[in-house]
Amino acid sequence: MVELSFLGACREVGRAGVLVEYKNTRLLLDYGIKIRPHQPPEMPVKPDSKIDAVLLTHCHLDHSGAIPSLYHSNPGLKVYGTPITRDLSELLLYDSIKVAKMEDYPIEFGEREVEMFHKNYRSITPGSKFKIGNIKVRAFHAGHIPGSLSYLLEVGKRRILYTGDYKYIDTQLVEGVDLDMPNVDILITESTYSTREHPPRPREEKRLTKIVTETCKAGGTALIAGFAVARLNEAMIAIFRKSKTKCRLYLDGMARTATDIIRKHGDVRDKLLFEAALNTVNYVTSQKMRKKILKKPSIILTTSGMLEGGPVLFYLSKLYNSENSSLLITGFQVEGSKGDRLLKTGEIVIEDAVYKPSLRIERINLSAHVDRPRLLNFIKALSPHTVFCMHGEETNRFAKELSETMGVDGVAPRLGVSYKV
Ligand SMILES: [Zn+2]
Ligand SMILES: [Zn+2]
Repeated sequence: MVELSFLGACREVGRAGVLVEYKNTRLLLDYGIKIRPHQPPEMPVKPDSKIDAVLLTHCHLDHSGAIPSLYHSNPGLKVYGTPITRDLSELLLYDSIKVAKMEDYPIEFGEREVEMFHKNYRSITPGSKFKIGNIKVRAFHAGHIPGSLSYLLEVGKRRILYTGDYKYIDTQLVEGVDLDMPNVDILITESTYSTREHPPRPREEKRLTKIVTETCKAGGTALIAGFAVARLNEAMIAIFRKSKTKCRLYLDGMARTATDIIRKHGDVRDKLLFEAALNTVNYVTSQKMRKKILKKPSIILTTSGMLEGGPVLFYLSKLYNSENSSLLITGFQVEGSKGDRLLKTGEIVIEDAVYKPSLRIERINLSAHVDRPRLLNFIKALSPHTVFCMHGEETNRFAKELSETMGVDGVAPRLGVSYKV
């Protein structure tokens, strides 16, 4: 018997973590936090026994953000993942310590634990095969962001695939998930968009380039807000390939360091294209430069993606009533975040002042997750008998649908509950 315990991401997006127990082996698949605006993050359930290793799919804090807290009880705990995931995770983990200090709430680890994460990290690549105790592991390219992996576990006679976050289609920066996988018995899949189909990517990229071109022609600034890791690079390459604008392109915020890490590792679909696009971009390096670049038409790619902090708020406080300018929101907005509130109420609070922006505001879908039709294709292709649906708000509905229409056992696991399979 294999026991699967779901420590988070149950009927929610955030704090992914699955404990796999077989004979004497205990593996954790991801161990992340759920970020909440201006509050301490929500932690996953704590495993009640010692862990042999963590298999990390990718750097996002909803998958990596709680790993350092494990070092209090597991000092030598090994974490497996790609080298780029290690570097990007460290960037985000150190930033989460900084944010906690700024917001003045406690978090469950410090710099010392992030150093232990670094020291005990074991680098693997897509295709790597290894064994942890009684469990055989194989890593696959997941196509979510650079360096992201899915894990195939061979446990006794059973094959279990844990997808982590994945993207089915090829996009400007990253190739889609590796579809050359064997059939599995049990699938543990992300279900972020189990109820929605994404608009065609080329159409969204065309909208993006049209808006930035129009903004520049009108003499305004196009402000593109996105997540630090990968998202702004997707926008950057789309603009490079598809827009004829003469406007200068700038990159600001944490995306600069994330971009440097991606460049260093080169884990992208087309390195030459990435380099060529990056050569058209200027890094913003000071507050003085921020003020200066607003004087001429320009395109600024900047963080944070949910408008919670970072240089985007400075730019917005200067551009809010510039009718020639535009704000493009490229990512998911957590309920209650400043970005979510701006879209719902037309207002945003920046340093205690309320702004009612009159610049053009548009959403562009550059999602890094699989959508509903492709999620169904993926499940069909792997022909599992049981599908655990996690990392989604509608997993209950989706699991039921799978059971009723696809002849598989669909399960929407409950927080902290263990399943014997
Ligand atoms: Zn992710
Ligand atoms: Zn995630």
